[in-house]
Amino acid sequence: MRLQLIKAEKLKAVEQLGAAISHEIRNPLTAASGFVQLLQDDYLPRHKRKEYLSLVKDELNSAEKVIQDYLTFAKPSLETLEELQVKNELKQIINILLPLANQNSVQILTDYSAIGFIKGDRQKFRQCFVNVLKNAIESMPNGGTLSISTELNYNKVTVIVQDTGIGMTNEQIERLGEPFYSTKGKNGTGLGMMVVYSIARAMDGKIRVESEVGVGTTFHFEFPASLTFMKTSEPMNYHL
Ligand code: ADP
Ligand code: MG
Repeated sequence: MRLQLIKAEKLKAVEQLGAAISHEIRNPLTAASGFVQLLQDDYLPRHKRKEYLSLVKDELNSAEKVIQDYLTFAKPSLETLEELQVKNELKQIINILLPLANQNSVQILTDYSAIGFIKGDRQKFRQCFVNVLKNAIESMPNGGTLSISTELNYNKVTVIVQDTGIGMTNEQIERLGEPFYSTKGKNGTGLGMMVVYSIARAMDGKIRVESEVGVGTTFHFEFPASLTFMKTSEPMNYHL
């Protein structure tokens, strides 16, 4: 009975959040559609046409950002548990973000000192670290260094993401993960970290944050290591 109650409450929270997020997507789409209607006027002056087109682009970008930060979180029912090799997953995520890093003159350093495996949903793991690394890169608009390293200690896999960006105040750190909390104005959704915390929790992960304004931020993620890969017949080289 109690279990059912908790489930119902959880579903309600998810539904409310879903409604809030579709609102965040629908608003800019409605605005874009309004400008498109104005653009249908054959006698619209050239400068107005340019202005409306740029507004349409801004509104579509806002909708796209919400979808990007929330993407896999929105389909919890499609969860599939897999054995993930953290190093390979991170490499692929970094590849996706290279253009953004180049755009911000951010150098990426990696140090995968151990091959750790964890159990989780690949799409969600990706969404989690895309959001974290994106924030790190966005915190260095004038360039900097993004260091990503992994450690395998006993039965824990640790992923450390360090940036030399703008950093955060204690108040900012405390508000991390709060839905729609963003300091980026029009460029932010405030959904990225909420998704990160939610995915990490689902994977029994722990997050620790250290940050100093003007110096940078370090995120430590700790996940339970999966050791079942050792039972497979495939020969594997790994360092413990
Ligand atoms: P968004 O990126 O859309 O603003 P997020 O939920 O991803 O939303 O992040 C929320 C806020 O957390 C950001 O607006 C920023 O203030 C802060 N933040 C997250 N990661 C970092 C970081 N690496 N460096 C500095 N601030 C960060
Ligand atoms: Mg973000």
